[in-house]
Parts: sequence; C-alpha cells; structure tokens
Amino acid sequence: MARAITRALTRRQLLQGSAISLGAGLPSNGLAADDQVDVLLLGAGFAGLNAAILLRDEGYKVIVLEGAGRVGGRAFTGDHVEGRPELGASQVGPYYARVRDMADRLGVKLLPGANLTAPYAFSINETLLSRDSWNNHALNETVGDERSVPPSVLLDHYFENHNPLKGFDDWLEPHAAAYDIPLGQWLRQHGASDEALRLINAGPIDADIWNVSALHLLHNDARGRLWFSGENTPRGLDRFQKRGPTSHRIEGGTSRLPEAMAATLGDSVRLNKIVTSIESAGEVANVRCMDGTRYRADFVISALPFTTLSRVAIDPPPQGNQAEAIRLLPYRANSQVHMRVTDGAYWEEDGFDPSIWSDGPLSLIRQKIGGDGNRDYLQAVCVGKKSERLDLLPPQERGAFVVKEIERMRPSTKGKLRVTALHSWSEHPLVGGFRHSFWPGQVNKFAHDMIRPHHRLHFAGEHTRRLEIGMESAMESGERAAIEVLDRLG
Ligand SMILES: Cc1cc2nc3c(=O)[nH]c(=O)nc-3n(C[C@H](O)[C@H](O)[C@H](O)COP(=O)(O)OP(=O)(O)OC[C@H]3O[C@@H](n4cnc5c(N)ncnc54)[C@H](O)[C@@H]3O)c2cc1C
Repeated sequence: MARAITRALTRRQLLQGSAISLGAGLPSNGLAADDQVDVLLLGAGFAGLNAAILLRDEGYKVIVLEGAGRVGGRAFTGDHVEGRPELGASQVGPYYARVRDMADRLGVKLLPGANLTAPYAFSINETLLSRDSWNNHALNETVGDERSVPPSVLLDHYFENHNPLKGFDDWLEPHAAAYDIPLGQWLRQHGASDEALRLINAGPIDADIWNVSALHLLHNDARGRLWFSGENTPRGLDRFQKRGPTSHRIEGGTSRLPEAMAATLGDSVRLNKIVTSIESAGEVANVRCMDGTRYRADFVISALPFTTLSRVAIDPPPQGNQAEAIRLLPYRANSQVHMRVTDGAYWEEDGFDPSIWSDGPLSLIRQKIGGDGNRDYLQAVCVGKKSERLDLLPPQERGAFVVKEIERMRPSTKGKLRVTALHSWSEHPLVGGFRHSFWPGQVNKFAHDMIRPHHRLHFAGEHTRRLEIGMESAMESGERAAIEVLDRLG
C-alpha cells in the first residue's frame, strides 16, 4: 500500500514530504525544511533575481543563494563613497523593456540622463590637443577619411560604416560566423591604417584588438546602435557620450532596483552563501555552500559569472565545449579611480575640454556631470590591458599614480584632485571582471554549447545573452532560463 502511494506522488511532492520529515527535527545534516525548494538560483544579480521572480510568480518555491553581503552584483552604487558614484551599471537604455517594466512594477523611479560626461580633450603622445585642432594636427597620423574622426570615435567610425549585422540576433546566424576573427584583422579588411589601429588599441577597448572577436563587438555595436534610430544617430561622439542623454538612471542609484527585486522575494534571498558545489544528475539537485549549508531543488539556475562558476565543483562535470567555456571564457578588466575636483575649474584655466581621452596608461578621465549639473567629480577608468597594468600596482599606490599622471598630462589640475575611491572589477572575488568577452573563434565554438542545460543545471547571466546588452541582457538571460525550467517543471 505504502509503495502504491509513493508511486502516485510526483517528485515535487516527494521533495516536500521529505522536507517535512527532515524539518521535524533532523536538521543535523545541515538541510533544513526551508532549504528544499523547486528551483535554486545561484547569484543575486539581475539575471538570478529576474529568474527567481518569474518562477515565484508562477507559484514555485525558490531560494536565491548570493555569495556577497549585498545583492546586485555588477550593479553597485558607491553609497559608501563621497559623491555616490556608480561603480558598475548606470545607463538604462531606451529599449530595456524588462528593466523598465521591473522598475515600474516595483515603484522604482527612472530619471533622464545617465553617466553624463563632459566633452573630451585628447592626450596623444603626451601632448594635450583640442577636438578642433585634431583634423590638421601634426600628431594626427591617420589617413584618408580617418583624419576627421577623433581618436575616441575611430572604432565607432568603422562600425558605423561597415558593421554587417543588422539586428539583435543575427550574430549567431551562420552568415555571421565569418566575423569571428580578431578585431584587428576585421579593421584591416576595411582599410584601417596602422595609426588608427594603434589609437583604437589605446582606447577603452575590452582587450587587445588581436585578442578579441570582431563578431562579439559587432553584436554589442549592432544592439547598442539601436539606442539611436536612423537620422537621429549622433555622430562624432563616443558610445559613452551618445548613450548618456538617451538613457535613464535609477533614482537613488542603480543598486536600488536589484534591492527592490530582492525585497519582493523576502527571505528567499540568502546572502553570504558562497556556492562551492552542485550535484545536478540525481533525482534532485544538491548545492553546498562554503559555510556548510546545503540546499536541494528540482532544478538549479546558475547566474554566476564563469569566472566564479569555474571554481564550483560540478558533479557530473560538464563536458566538451561547455566545460572549456566555463574554464576559459575571458572576462575583461575595468579599474576605476574616483576623484573630487577641489580648488576651481582646471578646464577654465587651460581652455581645454574637461574630460581626457588618452593614449597613455589611463584610458579615459571623465568629468562626470551630476544629475543636478555639478561637475565636482572625475573618474579615471582603465579598461582591458590598461586596467590589468594599473592593477599591478598595490592598491595604496594607484590613486597617487593616477593623480600624478593626470597632473603630468594637464598641469592645470595640479593640487586640485583628491582621490575618493578605487574599484577594480577583476579583483572583485565574486565577479572577476567587468564583462565577458570572446577571443577570436570562441563565439562559433562556445556561444551555442555553453548555455545548454546540464542535467538539472541551467545557465543564466549576461554571458549567456542572446539578444540584449548590459543589465537588460542579464534580465533576458534570467527569463530564458526560467522558461526552460518552467517547461520541465510543468
Ligand atoms: C563598470 C561597469 C559598467 C557597466 N555599465 C552598464 C550600463 O551603464 N548599463 C548596462 O545596462 N549595463 C552596464 N554594465 C553591465 C551590467 O552591470 C551587467 O551586464 C549585469 O549587471 C550583469 O548581471 P548578472 O546577473 O549577469 O551578473 P552579476 O551582476 O555579476 O551577478 C552575479 C552574482 O553572482 C554572485 N556570485 C558569484 N560567485 C558566487 C558564488 N560562488 N556563490 C554565490 N554567489 C556568487 C556575485 O556576487 C553576483 O552578485 C556595467 C558593468 C560594469 C562592471
């Protein structure tokens, strides 16, 4: 009789049944009744939180395990820093439907204009130049059409004129496979001069132009360009400048949105839970955390960046391209030094535009324009290999190095800059990089295989996106993974 009843129960009911018996007084194995759910979500960034909300809304019991002491991941408002800079995401693009809907639903307000930056002067071969002098300056060694394009926009110039991708999704179509080559090679095919390649490589680019897939960046560009439609596309501005006025920011800081998402999930979100192992092939999936706690579920969605998933023991281990992607997918570096401008407007003193694009050791020195129009803060940002180099300095020396470098490029800043914060995403122990990227050849090799479900384990996170970019891509990936799991739960 007992056997007949057991057979009639679904796996979910069994799970709940065992939860009751364990919860009745046998917590010694570290598994409490509350720790057994339908779906476990790993990582409380936009991807994990969105998947959790979608599954909870469908009536399933979820737990989100987050290793850090806060939610949001790469959405990180520097509430602890003077001037409250965004250390991670800030710009909510005009077509971010999921982010916008979520903000609306949770009563989180969006305000116009995000990450606004004052115009750039250029520091080329240690000489400061104005935008106006660039076309005919002796230091402009680019050729042909390139000569009238400021160094900060050279890559955008080649993308605007030659990007073969038209939509959100054609980067994974067979015809696009031919562009999974080094960016440098693609630029050369379109006539870029040696000097243009040098300047592009010196800019805030994910990686060396010979070490990043053109297809990966062409997809970013195709999606990003849809932020500005047709004739309204502003030309001659870099992508940060173009996106600023056309995007929105989150009132009080970007962190407020993931915090509101986590609040609707209540105590289903568990902080300081560093996941160390996932068993995904049995009747149920088992997850263990560094503090010894254990969780069980029908399914697990990992929204962990591959940088940290590669340190989690997965049993049985993923195979083939998926295993290789988890181990090898590169995440690009981003290191920031935030500064307060004291003692007056240095740009009025020397007459150059306030921000600086540099071919030296720093990528960009951006004068931030605050929501109230204040111009009190500068952000020096290094990306890719420049960030890796800056991170070679001990943290206590980085601020002084950056200030000295800016003073050298621009003597009018002498004694006027005070460091307020440092932040390096590649040194972040639970993120390990600014964003994923693909080496040449890796889009074709990994993009399809790396997101396939592995037994009871599904994959989300911005690195598994199909269509979108940024925060919206994380939301999109969470939605896709939730739908995959709903199909199996149903
Ligand atoms: C400097 C910077 C600027 C950006 N600017 C923009 C912008 O303006 N607009 C935009 O749309 N996007 C921007 N982005 C990108 C955007 O922030 C990301 O695409 C998005 O936040 C990624 O979300 P995610 O959920 O995929 O990953 P994450 O936010 O990285 O979340 C992953 C979570 O997993 C947790 N975790 C990791 N390992 C473990 C473990 N072992 N156990 C438990 N938890 C773990 C982490 O702590 C983290 O909370 C920017 C990013 C950066 C870094």
